[in-house]
Amino acid sequence: MKKDTQQLPDWYTEGLEHIWPPYGQSSLSPAPLPVARTEGCCIILEDGRELVDGTSSWWSAAHGYNHPKLVEAAKAQLDVMPHVMFAGLGHEPAYRLATRLSQITPGKGKLSRVFFSDSGSTATEVAMKIALQYWLNHDKPRKERFVCLHGGYHGDTFGAMSVSDPERGMHKAFKNNVIMHYVVDMPTGEYSLSEFEDTIKAIAPHCAGFMVEPLLQGAGGMRLHSPDMLAEIHRICGENEILFIADEIATGFCRTGSMFACEEAGIVPDIMCVGKGLTGGIMTLAATLTSEDIYDAFTGDDPARSLMHGPTYMANATACAVANASLDLFEAENRLAQVAKIEMQMHKALQSLRELSGVMDVRVKGAIGVVQLAEEYMDVYALRHAFIEKNVWLRPFRDVVYLMPPLVISEEELTVLTDAVVEVVTEWSRSVRATLSHLFD
Ligand SMILES: *Cc1c(COP(=O)(O)O)cnc(C)c1O
Repeated sequence: MKKDTQQLPDWYTEGLEHIWPPYGQSSLSPAPLPVARTEGCCIILEDGRELVDGTSSWWSAAHGYNHPKLVEAAKAQLDVMPHVMFAGLGHEPAYRLATRLSQITPGKGKLSRVFFSDSGSTATEVAMKIALQYWLNHDKPRKERFVCLHGGYHGDTFGAMSVSDPERGMHKAFKNNVIMHYVVDMPTGEYSLSEFEDTIKAIAPHCAGFMVEPLLQGAGGMRLHSPDMLAEIHRICGENEILFIADEIATGFCRTGSMFACEEAGIVPDIMCVGKGLTGGIMTLAATLTSEDIYDAFTGDDPARSLMHGPTYMANATACAVANASLDLFEAENRLAQVAKIEMQMHKALQSLRELSGVMDVRVKGAIGVVQLAEEYMDVYALRHAFIEKNVWLRPFRDVVYLMPPLVISEEELTVLTDAVVEVVTEWSRSVRATLSHLFD
């Protein structure tokens, strides 16, 4: 699409000199697209173009954009009480939300305590602090490290970075500035479960918790693992006094085909983090849930046993009201049935890509579709550009092109997305083949 610079609004050209955009090399990326508004599953640009969204705005807009019920809930709460501090005060939106979250999460009531924070990264930080202090309060101060998986991602703050594969992951630049934890491989193939179990046993005296993204490693590369393997890890943690921390920030709220990914493995984590889809993508809110047993370790007469954490915007009333409205939608409308349809459609549409040169794998699970490409030939910036040209909003990274559409996406809109993926990847594969034949001529 030709860029008509005349058409760019002033706020954009001026602000572009002042904004520090997230991730990636902005001198290589296509320039950020000026967005005028959103609607349903579409992002509408200032120049009138409509992009079908295949990312749900970083996996959060489960019910699509501007859902009237969510907007209504936010407006109503803004009139009554937009926000009030949460220390020494309580309010209905947060208390109701805590009650509901503990009822719908794995174990249906077993994760009875909810700590609200303002972003996913903070929720994982809080989970780590809880795990460390749980053992401290039980007089086990040597349990001061975590186990996590290669290819994991738990956020961008320091604690979160320390368990996000700091040697190989996106935060490599900080690998010497984070506390070193135990980073292990998911037991598959040659690395057997019993070896894995031996490793965990050996490090258990030093381990407070095992941090894992259930079923899908998201931002670390969109890799799937089986519910059975997840259940095994959970069992091994339980047998070795390691708290099992499920980071469901990406997977929670139906994304993988069940309300929470842990359900598929039939497990109840000791600690669980939710975020992203919690408010259906319109307000920033996250939560760390724990069992009553863990909460008990923080109670008693000694103030030093308490958790020293309390974000300024903790349990923001407007965000909690929206989250309650989002849970209403999950109850009233059958998102799981929609996810099953999305899964089938993506499966059909993307499978054929497997045959193409340079395509390493095609994975579909719930409302997640992944096409993994040969990284050495992948130019993410060029691919992102190609998708914009096709009027779809997709953001390939590393070696993957992925779809995480809003769960309410129509068959037609999803077809627009999958067609774009098929066309762009096919074109890419052709160019890779051309490069290779040139090399081997
Ligand atoms: C996005 C994400 C986070 C971080 O959440 P933010 O709200 O971006 O801080 C943590 N863990 C997982 C699994 C995520 O996908």
